Amino acid sequence: MPHKKGADLNQLLLLPPSLEDFIDANNPVRVIKAFVESLDFEKLRFEKARSKETGCRPYHPGDLLKLYMYGYMNRIRSSRKLERECTRNVELMWLLKDLRPSARTIAYFRSDNKKALKLVFRQFIAMTNQWGLLEGKLLATDGSKLQAVNSKKNNYNAKKIALHFGRIDEKIQGYMDELDKQDKEEKGNRKEEIEKTIKELKERRKKYEQLEKQLESTGEDQVSTSDEESRLIMIRGQITEVAYNVQTTVDSKHYLVVDVKAVNTNDKKMASVMGRRAKVIIGNGNFDYLLDKGYHDGEAITICENHGLRTLISQPAASRSGEIPTPEYYNDKFIYEKTTDSYLCPAGQTLKSNGSLYKIKSWNGYSQVKQYKTGACGKCAYHNKCTSSPKGRGRIIQRSIYQDAVETNNARVMQEREKYRRRQEMVEHPFGMVKRQWGYDHVLLKGIDKVEAESNLIFLCYDLRRVIKILGINVLIKRLQEISLYFSKTGLKWLKMRVLNFLNQENRIKKWIDWQSSNCLKRLNLKVKLNLKPNYCADWRCV
Ligand code: SF4
Repeated sequence: MPHKKGADLNQLLLLPPSLEDFIDANNPVRVIKAFVESLDFEKLRFEKARSKETGCRPYHPGDLLKLYMYGYMNRIRSSRKLERECTRNVELMWLLKDLRPSARTIAYFRSDNKKALKLVFRQFIAMTNQWGLLEGKLLATDGSKLQAVNSKKNNYNAKKIALHFGRIDEKIQGYMDELDKQDKEEKGNRKEEIEKTIKELKERRKKYEQLEKQLESTGEDQVSTSDEESRLIMIRGQITEVAYNVQTTVDSKHYLVVDVKAVNTNDKKMASVMGRRAKVIIGNGNFDYLLDKGYHDGEAITICENHGLRTLISQPAASRSGEIPTPEYYNDKFIYEKTTDSYLCPAGQTLKSNGSLYKIKSWNGYSQVKQYKTGACGKCAYHNKCTSSPKGRGRIIQRSIYQDAVETNNARVMQEREKYRRRQEMVEHPFGMVKRQWGYDHVLLKGIDKVEAESNLIFLCYDLRRVIKILGINVLIKRLQEISLYFSKTGLKWLKMRVLNFLNQENRIKKWIDWQSSNCLKRLNLKVKLNLKPNYCADWRCV
């Protein structure tokens, strides 16, 4: 049986196919085109959104954004690979109208438009909110570590620098001794070689002295030399990596990522930061906010509470060292009386505070506490079960200034276990997909701002894929084209009719207004009155 034969490569066609013929109607690349064409690049503050009268004509930011979105959706992130794809990938040729930007142009676009890329993500979320794809009732935040462009070898702390000093000094001393020995024995055949090595070692020592000075002047506990803003962070257990901690907030309705932020610290203080950002994005704070125990921090919980956020943050297990106190005398067996500001111990004694605040070191930093004690401990029959301190001192209970908010949160987690269990399925899925399926477990750019821009681009593509699944390609393209028509003069009249219909639906108006932060309300109200185009909040100060 003969094999299948391909087309004759020298065959001439009477009507050669156009690029359009290669892209079918259900190709996701059409969604990228429709989305990018719905954006207002000047408002989003893209570089070269308006080209100059003189000089070389630049690429339109829309074309480069299309290229990046296509690349990130298809696991091609490197500018060199994207440059190559532009010359051989039919979908990209169609998307870019056969433009072929150089790797340099592609790379500069991503690093020059950090804020604009964040705004594009924010604008897409505003669109999904208007389309009713966000519920805004239950949100969860979690962080995941993306490896930075900095090896562990190029990250130093005071201990590591001291270790290097010790090794270099030891080597220098060894060579000096050898030099003395050669002088005494008057051999001298290796003298030059040894002197050269000592010089090199002294040069290396200078490098570490420089790093030591940098640590002292910045007050930081570590310094990275390739990507200065990256930090050595605990990944899991005792495993560490030089990385960025990318925080994402996810809505429960369709598991869309609504917010992305890159930090170079751990999660502990991030609950209040991400919570307040979520409040701005959703437009109100009437949601339950789920976070894991890494975020359990008294100060952060109190700030959330003060901003009206209902947190459900899991409580980490208390660290128990030694056999005393025995379980019947653990801290949670002491009952706090708010009215009298005192504790009742298991033996029925009242522990009181002198009202002073003490600064203590806790597992997640420093905190201010009040101390509660009683004079009855000296004569207590349970003293040796309750405390290991001498009889004269007795048991001391410490209460953080944030304890009220912490206890409210802890009680809520206990009562609403089912709701809290949803956290994992909501917020860990995006990272699972992005890191495992797409292989984006590391970042390509250096610096926290650029990493955040890249993370926004990654999760924009993630969200776009989800919305394609939810709405379908044709519906999504239609909605995006409606928005892009706002920018077309010819479509303005038709569009005003559509906007009027759109605005007449009361619940949509309410959602629309709710979405806006107070900064934008004046402008928005004016636009509602004038029945003008939907006002996606592109003001970066709203973040
Ligand atoms: S040692 Fe003090 S705090 Fe502990 S049970 Fe006895 S009286 Fe109460």
